[in-house]
Amino acid sequence: MTMPTKAQIFEHWMDWLDKRGFDWGEPCCWACKRDLDDKYDLNKPSATREEIIKNWERAPLQRCHIIARQFGGEDTPDNLFLMCKSCHDRAPNTKSREAFLDWVERQDYTALVQEDIMRELRNFDLLDRIDDVNEMLADKELMKRFFSNSGFHMNQARGGAEITLSSIFVQIAEELKRRK
Ligand SMILES: [Zn+2]
Repeated sequence: MTMPTKAQIFEHWMDWLDKRGFDWGEPCCWACKRDLDDKYDLNKPSATREEIIKNWERAPLQRCHIIARQFGGEDTPDNLFLMCKSCHDRAPNTKSREAFLDWVERQDYTALVQEDIMRELRNFDLLDRIDDVNEMLADKELMKRFFSNSGFHMNQARGGAEITLSSIFVQIAEELKRRK
């Protein structure tokens, strides 16, 4: 069996996703539910089922095995799951479909981002300035500048060309030093 396409995998999971409140027209990671760039959204209310399914092929999501290949998991749509790179990297290698789906249900993008931020606060020795950092993270203009300084194109595919949080924290640390 050849590896199913992302569209084929999506088609298999459509009802499952619908029951969990996913918007078929806005591809996102099925684990953490993080939004992708708007350009992957299907902005067409009159889209046919076929167009909706086809649109998922464009999304920069990865095909992840539920039961790992090494445990006999097959390359079939029911054993494949679409996730962002970050979730795929963290996904459990398991023989149990239930355990995998249980792990999936517990993923939360906001919590993951918070954990990442806490790690960078420690890395940059900024734990005592958490209020200042939060204020900066909420400053849209400032963040826009930091993101563009990092050479990241907001419109580029989120394949692997994603900006690291540490790139932003380097600038936050510098800015805090300037403001002190
Ligand atoms: Zn994810």
